Amino acid sequence: LMLAYDPARRLARVQVNLEKALVNARMIYEILDIEPHQRDAPGATELAVEKGAVRFERVSFAYEEALPILRDVDFEARAGETTAIVGSSGAGKSTLIALLLRFYDLDQGRILVDGQDIAAVTKQSLRSRLSYVSQQPYLFEGTIRDNIRYGRPGATDAEVEEAARIAFADEFIRAQADGYETLVGESGATLSGGQRQRISIARAIIRDAPILVLDEATSALDNESEAKVQAALERVMKGRTTVVIAHRMSTVVGADKIVVMDSGQVVEQGRHEELLADPNGIYARFHRLQGHKNGLELVDDRNPRQEPT
Ligand code: ADP
Ligand code: MG
Repeated sequence: LMLAYDPARRLARVQVNLEKALVNARMIYEILDIEPHQRDAPGATELAVEKGAVRFERVSFAYEEALPILRDVDFEARAGETTAIVGSSGAGKSTLIALLLRFYDLDQGRILVDGQDIAAVTKQSLRSRLSYVSQQPYLFEGTIRDNIRYGRPGATDAEVEEAARIAFADEFIRAQADGYETLVGESGATLSGGQRQRISIARAIIRDAPILVLDEATSALDNESEAKVQAALERVMKGRTTVVIAHRMSTVVGADKIVVMDSGQVVEQGRHEELLADPNGIYARFHRLQGHKNGLELVDDRNPRQEPT
């Protein structure tokens, strides 16, 4: 049993799983600490985050040459505020996040965190100041406790449990056969989508990074789970700069800023009321079309069954 807790073995398993997942072309940004392919620039400095303002400055990017994906994207996610990114499937929302986490280098423009170009700092220092909560939380093979502690490896058991309480996860964790020692991951206990998300939120809480990047779930959770995930998210967002790929109308309406993406460009930005003021705007049209349909889905997900990208 002790072997199962050996950190090197655990890391090896994480990497095997990560590779498998990458083969599946999923983006698992929440495993932020695993060294990605690109290296740091020579002379890279440590990112110093004070407030956590994030600025995209005329950013252009293509995965493949001659196929531009983002064009001249320019917006600020102000410190401590919630910035919601909306737009139809394929608009480039996930790509924005991938660039902020430095999974790719920009073709043009800069991304600044508190005025520092993220290309000039170490990836480790950048990622240690970010938490990512994805639509499909990644749980590696191990205990629930290990999965939460992954957010900050030095955290004590008491801190893990406190993070779980804040994330509304403590109760269901204790109800598992082995509580916090319950094994999860591919061969472990089966958890619901909402439970996995709350573990992922607990991981972000324990990480305590000033910038939170959130990819809101499109798939419906059961009502109880939905309410708990939402309440947990509100707690983790408080006092942090949050950049959220938003799918729920309540998130969008409550955001300090909405950035509307279309075909790789920012076509509108502002608060909900400001955007509605232009009845011919894309946002206002989306809102009219979808706003009263359960009040949830803002985005035009033409193929809701596809893998999240
Ligand atoms: P959204 O999140 O708004 O649905 P994405 O950022 O996932 O949009 O995708 C924007 C465009 O980039 C799409 O045309 C998509 O097919 C393409 N794309 C996304 N990821 C990759 C990738 N890893 N390689 C090549 N093209 C990609
Ligand atoms: Mg996406």
